[in-house]
Amino acid sequence: MWPTLFQNAGSVAKKSYALIESRLFSASNAYLKGGSSRHMERNERIKLLRRTNEEWRERMNAFNRDYGRRLRETPDFAEKESERHRERYATNPQYRLSCLIRAWVKHDRWAWICELPWKTHRPVIYTTPVQHRCESCGITRLRGSRFVWQSIAQPDSYSCHACYMKQEPEVCMPKGYEDIRGMRALVARKRQLDELNPQASRAEGTVDGGKK
Ligand SMILES: [Zn+2]
Repeated sequence: MWPTLFQNAGSVAKKSYALIESRLFSASNAYLKGGSSRHMERNERIKLLRRTNEEWRERMNAFNRDYGRRLRETPDFAEKESERHRERYATNPQYRLSCLIRAWVKHDRWAWICELPWKTHRPVIYTTPVQHRCESCGITRLRGSRFVWQSIAQPDSYSCHACYMKQEPEVCMPKGYEDIRGMRALVARKRQLDELNPQASRAEGTVDGGKK
């Protein structure tokens, strides 16, 4: 829930708060429910608020700064937040998969994971942050991102990780890897598929992605 501090910044803002589940006001925490157009609408409202309501922007910045400071300086708070993460990881399979996929594709030694036969998008890792507008939530991170999902059907279209993970788990996972939920199993399945058919286990006809 949002602190009372934020609940008196105008009716538009109130509606926005009610829709936001994330504690931090950033795209990286955009685990939000519902359809894309609703996200797009909400994000437009937030962008408008950010541009036009200085008081609101200041409060939001202060809240984010305070959250970061509490994490760094208050061990109890950091422990509570980490416990919240652990609990969510343990009880929410989609969140767990989201964390796993993010760790897999971002790991330098596992570049081959980006080349797996992903279905709708493929992961792209940049050496320096690049700005892309998410096709689903409409958010463009001002500081850019080193990790995005590029649409296979429309290579000019990109999705943020949170929006990519709103698809069904079997759609999020590469072809032939739908049931995999761990690194060891992932490697074993890769070997198995490579032995069966070296061509079929690689991405085919996809755009230029992977590690850049
Ligand atoms: Zn998005």
